[in-house]
Amino acid sequence: MTKYVYDFHEGNKDMKDLLGGKGANLAEMTNMGLPVPPGFTITTEACLAYLAQGGAPPEMLGEAGEHLVRLQDAMGKVLGDPEDPLLVSVRSGAKFSMPGMMDTVLNLGLNDGSVNGLAKQTGGDVRFARDAYRRFVQMFGKIVMDVPGDAFEHALDEAKERKGPGAQDTDLDAEDLAAVIERFREIYREHTGEDFPQDPKEQLNLAIAAVFRSWNGKRARDYRRQNKISDDLGTAVNVQAMVFGNRGDDSGTGVAFTRDPATGENVPYGDYLPNAQGEDVVAGIRNTLPLAELQKLDPVSYGELIQVMHTLEMHYRDMCDIEITIEKGKLWILQTRIGKRTAFGEWVMAHDMLNESLIDEDTALLRVDANRLEELFKRTVQAAGATPIARGLNASPGAATGKVVFSADEAEAWAKGGERVILVRRETTPDDYHGMIAAQGILTSAGGTNSHAAVVARGEGIPAVCGADQIKLDLASRAFTANGTKVVEGDVVTIDGFTGNVYVGELPLEDSVLEKARAGDAAARETRIWKAFQRLMAHADARRRLRVRANADTPDQSTNARERGAEGIGLCRTEHMFLGQERVAAVQQMILAETPEEEQAAYDVLLPLQRDDFVGIFRAMSGLPVTVRLLDPPLHEFLPNQVDLAVQVALGRERGEDVSEQERLLRKVNEMHEANPMLGLRGVRLGIVKPGLYAMQVRAIVEAAATVKKEGLDPQVEIMIPLVATKGELEQMRAELEPVAREILEREGVELDHLEWGTMIEVPRAAVTAGEIAEVADFFSFGTNDLTQMGFGFSRDDIGKFVGMYEERKLVPANPFVTVDRPGIGRLMRLAVEEGKAGNPALHLGICGEHGGDPASVTFCHEVGLDYVSCSPFRVETARLAAGQAVIGSAESASK
Ligand code: ADP
Ligand code: MG
Ligand code: MG
Repeated sequence: MTKYVYDFHEGNKDMKDLLGGKGANLAEMTNMGLPVPPGFTITTEACLAYLAQGGAPPEMLGEAGEHLVRLQDAMGKVLGDPEDPLLVSVRSGAKFSMPGMMDTVLNLGLNDGSVNGLAKQTGGDVRFARDAYRRFVQMFGKIVMDVPGDAFEHALDEAKERKGPGAQDTDLDAEDLAAVIERFREIYREHTGEDFPQDPKEQLNLAIAAVFRSWNGKRARDYRRQNKISDDLGTAVNVQAMVFGNRGDDSGTGVAFTRDPATGENVPYGDYLPNAQGEDVVAGIRNTLPLAELQKLDPVSYGELIQVMHTLEMHYRDMCDIEITIEKGKLWILQTRIGKRTAFGEWVMAHDMLNESLIDEDTALLRVDANRLEELFKRTVQAAGATPIARGLNASPGAATGKVVFSADEAEAWAKGGERVILVRRETTPDDYHGMIAAQGILTSAGGTNSHAAVVARGEGIPAVCGADQIKLDLASRAFTANGTKVVEGDVVTIDGFTGNVYVGELPLEDSVLEKARAGDAAARETRIWKAFQRLMAHADARRRLRVRANADTPDQSTNARERGAEGIGLCRTEHMFLGQERVAAVQQMILAETPEEEQAAYDVLLPLQRDDFVGIFRAMSGLPVTVRLLDPPLHEFLPNQVDLAVQVALGRERGEDVSEQERLLRKVNEMHEANPMLGLRGVRLGIVKPGLYAMQVRAIVEAAATVKKEGLDPQVEIMIPLVATKGELEQMRAELEPVAREILEREGVELDHLEWGTMIEVPRAAVTAGEIAEVADFFSFGTNDLTQMGFGFSRDDIGKFVGMYEERKLVPANPFVTVDRPGIGRLMRLAVEEGKAGNPALHLGICGEHGGDPASVTFCHEVGLDYVSCSPFRVETARLAAGQAVIGSAESASK
């Protein structure tokens, strides 16, 4: 027979599935001998049975009845006894703490008789007893029976008004409270059509059923969907003997953390509210005192609390968050769980606990969240004294200050002119990308944490505040207003991506301690956070098998990546090397060339420019591999816009000007027009159609490598062909390009230790035929952006319109452009790894899509056996950490 009810003595902390988080930890603390008011937990299985059958299973009611008797015996009191009543709280508690679940009902068991018994128990404190009763009617009505809370609040306000102007709750005496209770019971009757239940068992059963039903409430369901929590878990119910923090100045209630959750420091931290019940702290009706004050108010209880905190930390080996109540000088512990902490706090705590030998190095490493590491490198704003003009969602961490602009083009133009700008939009679209990456920060008045603006900002490491709906844009007058403040184009604002606050004017920004320390600042290097970072990252590096490279296109980016621990460049894109006035002209000449001589002349211009770019990169990365990708985007991206050009030609003709040159260009542009350029003439297809292009690039790369080698440095070159779909394509490219490289090396009399030829795996066909392709490749690099795009048939640039809804409805497990989609795209990768290695055992494997900096994807790359991940330079530390954690995580799961 299923056991539906567990006494607190019968459970433990590992039974969260059955007892919920709250119940499991109450049981654990009970068995540790901590002062927990006795009680029992009705299981999540009972909840599921209740919901399935539309009523409580009879066995459950029987068991709950037996446990109630035991509780009564233990307390020497009977629930609702008019002489000496037992009172209980009814508390919901699912496996994960979850807003939307039913609120706790306190003081259950009170009725017209037991209210007198409560007064007797408390030495004749009739006022206290009646206050407890009116709170109970109110809570029970509102929480269990859905009576609108305002009705009770309103009646209470009236009672206070009758008492006199400015009267408080505490001014109501026993007589007044008797009247309030009467009024509350009328309200209850008006809204429910029934009398307030006097039978304590009926009260209890109604409350338990209400907790169960709240599992399927709208708020709870929405929360579960948002947070990807299963609907099949159910919630447990805890029934626990009441203790009272509102019995005078020697009583009170509070919340305590065993360490400071903000700074991580090993000092007790918390709030305490004398003479109050638990819900008063949350309601914020009076200001709480810092926990340290309790030491003065009640040194004995404080001392005992410190002892309990120590016991809990030694037991859970982590920072705990505790709810306490003191009743007449006696300390009670009402809840504990592993405490939430800031990104900063978790590093400091993990490192301290390691030094205290509370945890080992592997455990310490798993305690820090790779997804939040980036936050530690961001600038913060010093906002003391400043009032925000608006607040939105903290969509991407970091602080930024700059002049307001309202379009992506302005952002780009102003930034080129050396201005720091904040791009302000209602929301952004892929067309805004160039302006977004030119801005210091992004501010939108619409859109959520998964909006285009938010996703791009996080991906690029740009601070952003999104959905600040108090901001009313007036694009016509290039201005916005927010709560009465008007801001026009060019005005300076400051945004705080940690809090979502928006300020007018330039607030001082502070560099992160870690960035300062990295730059050599002596004081910063003495901080706890830097020491924690150094030690734990060293452990991650020692543990990881995956190498970490960066995607970098310039010498500066390469140097930056190397400083962050990059062990090579996994993707050096050459397209930006085709931009800039002089280069665009040459590129256009190449595209438009009518004869081989014209085309060659263009390559002669481009060659030395490209070579210099590569020299800088090889120098910066000496001794480490650099994967250079030959030109990938469609050529028309380097030509003028078709429509603009047609307009120019038409206007010129009308004016009778000589437009033959533009006409020639237009003809070529029309000729090259593609309906689907991303699936058109690009990548290796360009290499096949314009053989001189890749040959020129290879010449530039190998000549640069030869130059750097002659300087005594060690260039390690990997040449990568994009968008390959067939073995034949790669074979042909190698046949054409390898002789070019060989000839240069012979001419220069130089040998390279490391010169490899490989391909991206980014077209599904390439993944599926990887075994064949591997026969002619030295390495594969998974281009997971395109692989995801083509695998799903989702255009990454357009997915913003529906990806949020897809995630919400669980149509995709996660945004597949952020985290590798294991069952689909991941399966293609796994296949390509296995068959690729079978086809060529010496094959190197890496990933260069943006997924390379996403912790969950890094774990996947570890599991499928890649050799390295490559990601943006500012994600290198994240990837190093995630790669270390992946080893420990898989060791853990292997030992289970
Ligand atoms: P939540 O999950 O919202 O924290 P809780 O069940 O922990 O809800 O309870 C809300 C408040 O009521 C807390 O402050 C808690 O300490 C207090 N409380 C719960 N049960 C009791 C009890 N048996 N005696 C006294 N206070 C209680
Ligand atoms: Mg609680
Ligand atoms: Mg690609």
